Amino acid sequence: MFKLTSVGEELDVFIAKVCLVALFFLIIGDCISTFFYHVPEHVFGKFHTLVHHGKNRSFVHYAVLTRNPLVLLDGFLGALPYFIFVPWLWNISPLGTILGLILGELHVVWRHVSIIKWKTPKPIKLLCRIFCITTPERHWLHHKNAKLAYGDIFTFFDRPARLWLNFLIFLKIKYKYKRKIGVSK
Ligand SMILES: [Zn+2]
Ligand SMILES: [Zn+2]
Repeated sequence: MFKLTSVGEELDVFIAKVCLVALFFLIIGDCISTFFYHVPEHVFGKFHTLVHHGKNRSFVHYAVLTRNPLVLLDGFLGALPYFIFVPWLWNISPLGTILGLILGELHVVWRHVSIIKWKTPKPIKLLCRIFCITTPERHWLHHKNAKLAYGDIFTFFDRPARLWLNFLIFLKIKYKYKRKIGVSK
């Protein structure tokens, strides 16, 4: 009896570890990818906008299922923040890390299905709203207007990301203006 209980408890801990590691992997990856790559790229770079926000792109292109090296590079740079944590999370739960990787990859594909005229069913939309998960419709808003709908996976990154975006735009304008009028500091 005692043994059964302890096996049950071990299984609970194992499952909790898997779920928490997968969740942490996705949250920290999305956070770093949004604040250190995605938003700064929109302000200071052109690469992400050219590769990911252009017109006449296909689903394969957006879902990074293509062999085009530029698309793969943008996908890789966006995904790099997720991989930073793999060795550390792997020590806690290899299965949780693999689950996080798979879920992250599936979400990349899913959030780009709008282009093939997908409409998210209402119950799934409701679940996504409850758990703050970005739906394809919401991500498509970002594709159409780069000032909207940040947070590739989680919607709670949207507001701070837009504040960060506005701050970086402000810095860029200020720096350019100072350079124009010849002020060094
Ligand atoms: Zn996208
Ligand atoms: Zn973008």
